Formats: sequence, C-alpha cells, structure tokens
Amino acid sequence: MYEAPRVRFAPSPTGYFHVGGARTALFNWLFAKRFGGVFVLRIEDTDEARNRPEWIDGICSALKWLEITWDEGPYLQSERLDLYTRAAQSLFDAGKAYYCDCQRSEIDERVKTAGLPPGYDGFCRDRGLEVAPGRALRFKVPKDGETVVDDLVRGKVAFDNGTIDDFVLVKGNGAPLFVLANVVDDLDMRITHVIRAEEHLPTTPKAILVYEALGQKAPQFAHVPVLVNEKRQKLSKRRDRVAVEDYKEMGFLPEAMENYLVLLGWSPGDDREFLTRNEELELFSLDRVGHSPSFFDVTKMLHFNKHYISLLSPEDLLQAAMPYLEARDFWNGSSDQRSSFLKLAPEICTRIGLLSEVPSMVDFIYQDHVKFDEGAFGSVTSDSSSKRLLERSVEIFSSLDYFGREELEAACRAWAEESGLSLRKLQVPIRVAITGKKIGPPLFSAMEVLGSEACLSRLAELASMLTEAV
Ligand code: GLU
Repeated sequence: MYEAPRVRFAPSPTGYFHVGGARTALFNWLFAKRFGGVFVLRIEDTDEARNRPEWIDGICSALKWLEITWDEGPYLQSERLDLYTRAAQSLFDAGKAYYCDCQRSEIDERVKTAGLPPGYDGFCRDRGLEVAPGRALRFKVPKDGETVVDDLVRGKVAFDNGTIDDFVLVKGNGAPLFVLANVVDDLDMRITHVIRAEEHLPTTPKAILVYEALGQKAPQFAHVPVLVNEKRQKLSKRRDRVAVEDYKEMGFLPEAMENYLVLLGWSPGDDREFLTRNEELELFSLDRVGHSPSFFDVTKMLHFNKHYISLLSPEDLLQAAMPYLEARDFWNGSSDQRSSFLKLAPEICTRIGLLSEVPSMVDFIYQDHVKFDEGAFGSVTSDSSSKRLLERSVEIFSSLDYFGREELEAACRAWAEESGLSLRKLQVPIRVAITGKKIGPPLFSAMEVLGSEACLSRLAELASMLTEAV
C-alpha cells in the first residue's frame, strides 16, 4: 500500500486542452484520492513563444467541468524561475554541468564531418567556460553505465548513458528547459509519483540523472499509454478532434466523458462499463493500467453519453440542455416553457445521444407555427392519402373527452383496427403536422404536452395545405 501520495498534473498551455491531458489528469486525481493523497496542478509555461494565458484558463475550466479538482496550485513555472536558476547554479558549482557557446550550425557541421550520430558532441564539456550571456548550461551526462527507469506501468526500462547527449538545462537566454524545471518542481513540491503520458518516457532517464546530480531520490514514474485514432495514429491536434472544450460544446456530459476516459488504458478488472466516481475511487490502481495504445473512439463515448443522459432527472436535463435552448430564438425561459419541457423530459432523455439534440426535440412546443423539415413535408405531400388521414384525425381527436397520451393512443389504435391501416402509417402525417419532423419524442406524449387546441389546428392546417387524393 502507498503512503499518502503527492501527485501533480503538469500541462503546458500550448493549445486547447487535449483529451489525453484530461485522461492523465484523471488518473493522477484518482490515484491521489484513492490513497488519501494530494493532487497538485502545475502549469509548465516556461516556453514563452508557445504559451498563451487563455489556454491556462481553458485547462482550469475543463478540469473543473470534469470535476477533477486540485488541492494545490495552479503553480505557474513562469513565477518560479529563481528556483531553477538556483538549481542550475548548484549543478554548475558541483561540476555536474558546464557552459557551452556552440552555435547549432557549428555543432551540426562538426558532427557531420566526424561522421557522428546527430546530437551534441561534447565540444565544451572540458573547456571550463564561465557563465556569460548567450552561453547555454549543459548537463554532463556520465559516459558509461545505464540509467534505469523503474516504471510502475512499463516495468524496468534501461537506457545506455552513451546514447544520451549532454542536454541543455538552461538556454543561452537564461530560460530553463523542461527537464530542469520539471525536476526542480517535482522535488520542491515533494511529488512522490509522476503519472504522465508515455511520450515523456525517453526524457525520463535525463530527469533521473538530474535527480542524482542534485543528490535527491527520484519520484516513482508511471507512463500511461498514448491515445490513438481509428488508424492507430497518435491523436494529434492538427488531425483529430482532441479539445475537451469541443466535446463539451457538442453536448457531452462531463460524467460520461469522465467515465469513458477512465477506461482508456485502465480496466476495473471486469467488463463493467459504467462506473460511478466512487466505484472508480474504490478500484483505481496503476497496476491495471495497460501498455498498449488506447483507441479514443467518439462513437463509444457517445454510447456513454446516451447512458448518462438517460439517467438525468427532468430538472437536470433542463439544466444540462440550457445552453443549447438559450441559443435558440424560441426559448424565453418562462415558467410555462419550463413546465412543458419538464413534462416531456423523461421521453427525451432516452432518445438522444448529445445534449445539443435537445432543442430539435422540443422546438415544436414553443413555435407558433410548425417549421417543416423538407424531407418530412415531402413524405406527407407525396402520399395522396395524407389529406384524408389528417382530416379524419381532427374528427377523431376532437371528440375525445380527455386529450391525454393514453386516450390518444387508444383512439389511434381503434382507428387503425377499423380502417385496416397500420398505426405507423397513421402516425406519419400526424407527427409531421404536430412537430414538423419525422423523428422526435413519442407522438402521443408530444401531443399531450402541446395540448388539444394547438394540435387540432396544426392537423387542420397541414390538411388544408394538401390536395385531395384522386
Ligand atoms: N508539461 C508536460 C506536458 O504538458 C508534462 C510533463 C510531466 O507531466 O512531467 O506534456
């Protein structure tokens, strides 16, 4: 069992918050919470050219949306530069790092002429240069031996030190690079477990060498598998839809996305799909995180969304769908509108995959006149019996004592029986007259919510637009 861990999620704000980042954050959060630990949020924003402050806000709000809450932070590396400078100085003072004034072009030239593999050739390693503007600080990588990453997911991975260049810790302009800032912060924040994307595994031996050079013990590492698309290519922001924000806008529920993400690379040990946060917290462990890349399958995530939407109470569906309703002209949020929405909500929540589908399921209630979908209207006009059916429906429905869903259905069934027509055939023109569409909430519930007056006038109106069958 682990002693209360301290973990961190350390995104670089270089773009929209990526689903892979959300999955890493979630694994960290679950690991911390499962074992009574602390989850730290640290923004790795030392690369001024690639960072934008609005992306920091985007990360924070997406994490909050997914209910991945941090106990400490957000710490910004850009506000902690002194720490990195001090660590760099101590490495230099201890002879573990050296200054280098080589230009990239000079290095490339020398390496090419000597027929060496690409990378730094150690030219300044023993030149004893002092600090000066424009000089980078490089780490003196031991020439022999190997550095072993004992990874909680991938096991022991050994790297031959001879293959590791004397890498840059601080650039010539004084800016600390990733490995230095990352290691210094993990030490300063007393991080016990570094759970991060597999793409960082190749730089982990460098980090371990820096920990050793600082005389410190490295945290435990756990590199989680990458997310891939349907072609098994690593998800990329240029090619794939990766921003958490996009999925939020498309109408995914945070609990659906969270539940889907937790299963990307981790398994609860059985084939359960739907897990509550509490169940995840009871079960989460790094030893059930697999090695192989995980397919980020939006269709599968939709299946989760459908499930979670179906569990929403009418009030919760209304709340969740509110941004989509408010974006439509027909919605004014009056108590009448809300109450008819709530009546129909139980029927809607089992029929949609995305919250963004809600407005088109309910708009017919709020419009003074039905807006017909082209295809739906066409299917009614092309059927010569539609006019007669609609006129007959007006007669049948206007004679009902009570305009309720059960009474409407019973009347239609009796009508189908007596006329020899199928219930489906009867329903098509009625549905189009009432909702303007061929698909939507169950017809009789929709009619009950709309009320007899509006229904009868819509049926008569569509009938009057059609020509008589010959
Ligand atoms: N800043 C790095 C990234 O966004 C993460 C580094 C880490 O977790 O150690 O990929």
